[in-house]
Amino acid sequence: MSLSTVPDLYGSMVFNNDVMRERLPKDAYKALTKTIETGKEIDASIADIVANAMKDWAIEKGATHYTHWFQPLSGVTAEKHESFINPVGSCKVVMDFSGKELIRGEGDASSFPSGGLRATFEARGYTAWDPGSYAFVKDKTLYIPTAFCSYTGEALDTKTPLLRSMDLINEQALRILRLFGDTQTQRVATTVGAEQEYFLINKDYYSKRMDLRFCGKTLFGAPAPKGQELEDHYFGPLKTNVAAFMAELDTELWKLGINAKTEHNEAAPSQHELAPIYATLNLAVDQNLLTMEYIRKVAERHGMTALLTEKPFAGVNGSGKHNNWSLSTDLGKNLLSPGKTPAENKQFLLILSAVIRAVDQYQDLLRLSVASADNDDRLGSNEAPPAVVSVFIGDELEDIVESIVGGKEYHGNKRTEMNLHVQTVPTFTRDTTDRNRTSPFAFTGNKFEFRMVGSAQNIAMPNIVLNTAVAEVFKDFADQLESAKNFDTALNSLIRDTLAAHRRIVFNGNGYSDEWIAEAERRGLCNYPTTVDVIPALTASKNIRLFTSTGVMSETELRSRESILYEIYSKTINVEAQTMIQMASREILPAVENYIRTLADTAKAKKDAFGEGFNCALEQDLIDRLCTLQYKAYRALESLKAAEAKAVGTGEKLAVYYKEKVLPAMRALRVPVDQLETIMPEDLWPFPTYGDLMHK
Ligand code: ADP
Ligand code: MG
Repeated sequence: MSLSTVPDLYGSMVFNNDVMRERLPKDAYKALTKTIETGKEIDASIADIVANAMKDWAIEKGATHYTHWFQPLSGVTAEKHESFINPVGSCKVVMDFSGKELIRGEGDASSFPSGGLRATFEARGYTAWDPGSYAFVKDKTLYIPTAFCSYTGEALDTKTPLLRSMDLINEQALRILRLFGDTQTQRVATTVGAEQEYFLINKDYYSKRMDLRFCGKTLFGAPAPKGQELEDHYFGPLKTNVAAFMAELDTELWKLGINAKTEHNEAAPSQHELAPIYATLNLAVDQNLLTMEYIRKVAERHGMTALLTEKPFAGVNGSGKHNNWSLSTDLGKNLLSPGKTPAENKQFLLILSAVIRAVDQYQDLLRLSVASADNDDRLGSNEAPPAVVSVFIGDELEDIVESIVGGKEYHGNKRTEMNLHVQTVPTFTRDTTDRNRTSPFAFTGNKFEFRMVGSAQNIAMPNIVLNTAVAEVFKDFADQLESAKNFDTALNSLIRDTLAAHRRIVFNGNGYSDEWIAEAERRGLCNYPTTVDVIPALTASKNIRLFTSTGVMSETELRSRESILYEIYSKTINVEAQTMIQMASREILPAVENYIRTLADTAKAKKDAFGEGFNCALEQDLIDRLCTLQYKAYRALESLKAAEAKAVGTGEKLAVYYKEKVLPAMRALRVPVDQLETIMPEDLWPFPTYGDLMHK
């Protein structure tokens, strides 16, 4: 592909605004954009026109089918393809697609997780078109992004509450803007850029490991002689096959209108990152899901397998998704932009204090929004953010906050020139905040970067929580300020009181240190090391109140999500435990047995050849060590089997059991097996090692 084709290629498979303008009659285009901008319902006759135009366009792009594409609570996307074919008479067909088919899909929803929202006999589920997310063509199919709900109208997906939270924050942010005299802005949208981390490994090696195939991560594995300690992979030159993969990935994503922008090597060997240019939240969610799908697909074409799981390898960095979150107006203003003099920018300070309060009040929900068994392995280890939520705001804002809370005048503006004292290098302005890689929630200039999100997760839930929590604070602020006698006085005290009450969540230091965990406890911040610890937060009364009072989720929807979280957690650990049992009993122990036999045969051969007194201490010693470890592994395997056999019940009880009994038994099995790996010959070890996976 020559570069001159990129603009032609870009978005060529998306039914985007330009295509709509070109293909729709003026009235229909106007009505549709109004729906997209204001969220108003679309007229049935317009829907017919849009559907027809979409179908003609999609057929030109090679499509024969269409599908409603949705995001059930299983965490992956779902689709059911229907062809456009419609028989006329007995031997002819026409390609048809009606407004009704565009707007609404109906089908059996009983196999998707509903957390008790729906019994199997009440199987009907509906998908409903989200006109705000662009339809696109891929694999000869027109994809229509939709929301998914039960027959009784409860959301069975992540998109529905996401859209509700976007409407909510729009409504409340507009109230804040009006207070500052802004009469022009019509809509405030959440913008999100999700940086995506992943590993690429050789496909043949992948297929030789049961743990990778079933769990997407290694469950055994001794450290390779070299890990990431030399820090030579981060931003390093790309290997040829990785560069070819990235080039093709970019092309595929660009066709779908996804702004893949930055790609580089990450900290761990064979770890990489892709950052897109940010988009409006609902699009950003769809695009991130497609990005993950294409990372996997394109890797296959290049003889590699992409691992998106949060912690595929012990001892090196895991993968996360940095969720960059901000608020932008339809006039292009970023509400989190502090401007040149943040200390005087009261609107910014009010919004900043709203975010700080929201994060403080709903730390538990933010932690919950990224909770999964796999992300538990990552949070708090190897440079991943800790499980404790805190906010990094940088030195300049910290000083401003200090002066506001202390009632002192703010003097400094720390913007300084950077001079490298090399004549040819121009001086430039230093950023006012340094980067803080250890903060789970960092202000990075004009956006907040939420770094706890796991690499495989759908980014909807963290953004639902952020939008809802911040909108609730906006609502409270607007209520107070709209009725204030003196706006300026009320505004100043509101900012001061809010910052004073919630500054405990602000932490600019090293989030990886043990001292911080102790300090966080002194400050009364939440610490939920595991998913099971934090799931109950979803239905804590303050959180039910938050979601129900704002209309983002009903109590029934929350309770269903709670039970799905428990269910998925238990199932994940169960699959891992079963995989370990299979690997240990069918591959590892027999391999060790083989080696012991070989050593014994060797010793015997030596004695036969050179006499009974010949020195076979090497074989004896090795056999002794192998037998000891083999027996330890065997005992640990039996304990794990016993723990698995007793895993009964459902919901919280079962999840707690998996965490407290099964997980420790899994860890105990791993220890002797990893030790065995280091003394077994390479050709007798039954699967590729960390060295093979990460360094070949
Ligand atoms: P950094 O290197 O500090 O993380 P970048 O400019 O590279 O900052 O941005 C990282 C990610 O943040 C990108 O995906 C980018 O699109 C996204 N981003 C930048 N500005 C915004 C914004 N206003 N809203 C949401 N995301 C943003
Ligand atoms: Mg970043």
